[in-house]
Amino acid sequence: MAANVTIKAIDSSTVHQIQSGQVIVDLCSVAKELVENSIDAGATTIEVRFKNQGLDAIEVQDNGSGISPQNYESLALKHYTSKLSSYDDLGTLQTFGFRGEALSSLSALARLSVVTCTQQEAPRAKRLEFETSGKLKGTSVVSGQKGTTVFVEDLFRALPVRRRELERNIKREWGKVISLLNQYACVQTGIKFTVSQQPTKGKRMVMFSTKGNPTTRDNIINVFGVKTANALIPLDLRLELKPTAGPGKKGMTGDDGNTTEVRVMGHVSRPSHGEGRQTPDRQMFYVNGRPCGLPQFAKVINEVYRSYNAPQTPFIFADIQLDTHLYDVNVSPDKRTILLHDQGQMLDNLRESLVELFETQDVTIPVAATQ
Ligand code: ADP
Ligand code: MG
Repeated sequence: MAANVTIKAIDSSTVHQIQSGQVIVDLCSVAKELVENSIDAGATTIEVRFKNQGLDAIEVQDNGSGISPQNYESLALKHYTSKLSSYDDLGTLQTFGFRGEALSSLSALARLSVVTCTQQEAPRAKRLEFETSGKLKGTSVVSGQKGTTVFVEDLFRALPVRRRELERNIKREWGKVISLLNQYACVQTGIKFTVSQQPTKGKRMVMFSTKGNPTTRDNIINVFGVKTANALIPLDLRLELKPTAGPGKKGMTGDDGNTTEVRVMGHVSRPSHGEGRQTPDRQMFYVNGRPCGLPQFAKVINEVYRSYNAPQTPFIFADIQLDTHLYDVNVSPDKRTILLHDQGQMLDNLRESLVELFETQDVTIPVAATQ
């Protein structure tokens, strides 16, 4: 670089676009952020509607709290959130959202509008339109019930290269987004999920739905079918983490010399030849109900199955339940990576517990044979 160039600030709208493209990286990010907002709003029904597999539109409708009029102006402004007020709150976070970046990013990258209505205002809902800066452009009255619908049209219209990539890879992206929505639908008990898609020409089709079930097993039956569910065994492992050396933050292993319990709850393929093979190769991981990719956990579980000559890639639905101080969800702008404290010890422990489960219970005998 020439020595005489001047270092100067990028204008704020360019900064907004650059950062937005890191929060909303693909179709999955849109679905993830909107569904998480609906769950945070206390919804018991969530409907995700795609038009042309999301290339034309993605709409998420919920029956949650709705948004009150005093928040319309700030709704899509960057770092405006109703969920986190100080950095310290991050350690005890109970909500999916906390940074106030999703709606702001979507306003920068797509056409964003929202129809919302609180209990008090029903049946008079408001339709809100936003500028690319996130500023409220206009409101109008429409009829509606308590809840919120977010409309995202023309995704990545502001980033032509990313838009072309999305169009080119739409088949793969579509598979990924359906898997991700399966993952939310399976873990959320008490929420009715419906996901539908309408091709450019043709009728709307329901891809899958759940019924607001009380258990995750019922959700799995709705999403993957009863045959899959019957080939699974319940998982409930308690991993005892020993104190680790070094300075411990409050609540971490090691600060009081006591062990910490991490529970792994869920459902996995029966580790027998025939039964397990009937399950689809689905591996769904969560941390305290938050869907995430945990490749190291998948590797350990797959290895244990392999040692039993069982399916190479068993069906896994595993929720790692642990103290909120033991992980960090704020690792990447798209919040997909979760950093777990002392993951090595957790993995060793998981391997041993899983082997013990397979050894002590006769889980290898198919259900049919025991009845
Ligand atoms: P975050 O979820 O991190 O707070 P978002 O940009 O996703 O940031 O949302 C900004 C705010 O808009 C939220 O804090 C919430 O108050 C409100 N909001 C967004 N979606 C909904 C929804 N579906 N129902 C009710 N409120 C919502
Ligand atoms: Mg959010």
